[in-house]
Amino acid sequence: MIVIASENGRVGIAEAMRVLRCGGSALDAVEIGIRLVEDNAEDETVGVGGIPNLLGVVQLDASIMDGRTRACGAVGAVRGYVHPISIARQVMEELPHVFLVGEGAERFAAEIGAERRQLLTDQAADTWRRRMLEAMSAEELARLAEDPNLRRWVAVTMDPRLAGGTVNFIAQDAEGNIACGVSTSGWAWKYPGRLGDSPVIGAGNYADNRYGAAACTGLGEMTIRAGTAHSVVLHMQMGLDVEEACRRAMNDLQELQPGGGVDILALDCHGQPAAVTNEEVGDTYVVMTDEMDSYEVRPRTLVPPLV
Ligand code: ASP
Repeated sequence: MIVIASENGRVGIAEAMRVLRCGGSALDAVEIGIRLVEDNAEDETVGVGGIPNLLGVVQLDASIMDGRTRACGAVGAVRGYVHPISIARQVMEELPHVFLVGEGAERFAAEIGAERRQLLTDQAADTWRRRMLEAMSAEELARLAEDPNLRRWVAVTMDPRLAGGTVNFIAQDAEGNIACGVSTSGWAWKYPGRLGDSPVIGAGNYADNRYGAAACTGLGEMTIRAGTAHSVVLHMQMGLDVEEACRRAMNDLQELQPGGGVDILALDCHGQPAAVTNEEVGDTYVVMTDEMDSYEVRPRTLVPPLV
């Protein structure tokens, strides 16, 4: 049994492993691990405390995929509910659909009794306000919600390195089943309604028991274009080992937008993990197997841009 996560998953990985040790499924482990990150107000990129959109509203995205059946569920642009990963799981389990967004996702969240919470913290509101006032006057900010040309301000969101972030969890349970989950508040100060790769199955999340699973963080606009998470799994299907599969998928992105930072996390069906980054040396991920007392922090392999 193994659980791996992006570095910010450290607050949930031990609990995810406890769930597996108690006989829980990979899906249960992924969901509980991500819920703990969504609850962590100090994480500015997931759940409560997440960075708001251009209008100062937190909109959350999440997805979950069951590698046993390739069933999946996703929600996008959800306001006021702290655990989009659990709403995504219920979409998968209760509806004949895969993906709900906006009002429909919130309506479904209310129906299933999902927990409501104020997502915008004072700190995230202050940071948003300061950032906006660097780009516009106080009068423009006061009228922003009615601005008929909101797109002119979208440049304030253009540096994802300043404010990107997402959580990825992949688990393999005692029966060998694999699940993968992703949750995020998306790009900081994004245009309202913008979805990244996190809720897009095949882009930010993919799991297939037969080969493995992969999940992404970073510039979702790139991984959506390349179908990155599915590419990693397809490379494993074609016989590459898990790290080489990540490397190939990353290389496939490099020409799209030089400087676009992406991290990929993956696990093969034999329980072998890998993680790559095209950003800086020093990026890490976390790993815990059933033989470990606590999680390990491991370096991601740098896959530098092609020259
Ligand atoms: N991948 C996320 C998105 O595009 C953001 C991030 O991980 O930085 O919404």
